[in-house]
Amino acid sequence: MKKNRADLVKARCCKCKKLKSIDKFRLRKYSPAQKSKGRYLSSWCKKCENIIYRKSSSYRFTKSAHALNRRAKFVGEKGKITPVDLRKLGDPDKCYLCGEKIKNGDAEYDHVIPRRADGLLCAENIRWVHRRCNRIKHDLTLKELVILLRKILNKIG
Ligand SMILES: [Zn+2]
Ligand SMILES: [Zn+2]
Repeated sequence: MKKNRADLVKARCCKCKKLKSIDKFRLRKYSPAQKSKGRYLSSWCKKCENIIYRKSSSYRFTKSAHALNRRAKFVGEKGKITPVDLRKLGDPDKCYLCGEKIKNGDAEYDHVIPRRADGLLCAENIRWVHRRCNRIKHDLTLKELVILLRKILNKIG
């Protein structure tokens, strides 16, 4: 009978190929491969699993949601965003203010209705914007932004 990997003292990681003690592997209660319950040792060590996880979109969305929620709590903003909300919003594509393409490093989340005007931190109120467009909009509502831009255009346009 084949010995359960979870009963070994050491096991080899299928990713880094290193022999490690089994506490370096995650123990699972279900095996998708064998479709059965029991005690199963991951084929990859925790270190290798973490490296892959940090490159995944799940990790990115979880990290971003956490950062947004933490900031909201800090500044006393109401609402909450989940990694699922951010996944739905997807990766930065176009800036919702100027309509031009955004590169990843230049993208920020903006509150369409600012906190100042009781805007919530929620999926409906969050959009991708350019860093620069976000600076221009600052804490204005869209209506206030248009009024300000008209004034600027009249003055210098
Ligand atoms: Zn490994
Ligand atoms: Zn823009």
